[in-house]
Amino acid sequence: MDLEDGVSPLPFSAEEADAIWERLRRRDSSLFCPRCGTILETVAPIAGGGSMALIWELRCKPCNRAMIAGQLLDQLLPRAAPRASEQDRAAARWMPEEYLRLSGPAVQRVMDLIDRHWLSYTEHDRRELAQVLLMALSGLDRPDAPIGPELKDICERLVVNWIEKRRSPS
Ligand SMILES: [Zn+2]
Repeated sequence: MDLEDGVSPLPFSAEEADAIWERLRRRDSSLFCPRCGTILETVAPIAGGGSMALIWELRCKPCNRAMIAGQLLDQLLPRAAPRASEQDRAAARWMPEEYLRLSGPAVQRVMDLIDRHWLSYTEHDRRELAQVLLMALSGLDRPDAPIGPELKDICERLVVNWIEKRRSPS
């Protein structure tokens, strides 16, 4: 009898795998074993290669269980590849309405909105975002300027680009 057989991990049950997937979907950085609470080990790529690997194994050593997780590179390395969240996108799309509710100089209103949602970024970063959003939003100061879906799309794209080209806030 092969002693190695006892060492190869068994698959997690369907319910356990669902619990792990749920944490992955929420981009939760602490992935723990639903059986024992141990932080799961990420076993380096079992398909693909190098940084392009698309299939990974998540393993709990104490339980000797494992599951395969595909296309998770960005979620497993959130600091290296920041992603705009749904909240970021929603906040960006509400900016035209919020901008019109404020009074004062355009640049001050834009900075106020950015501070409301993205205060954890450095002032330098926030000013950079303000510059591009100002170009998109200051047109609303004309009396009959419409808030169309295009303007919301533009705000969303500017914010997403801004978030995803830099490191996560510390
Ligand atoms: Zn475990």
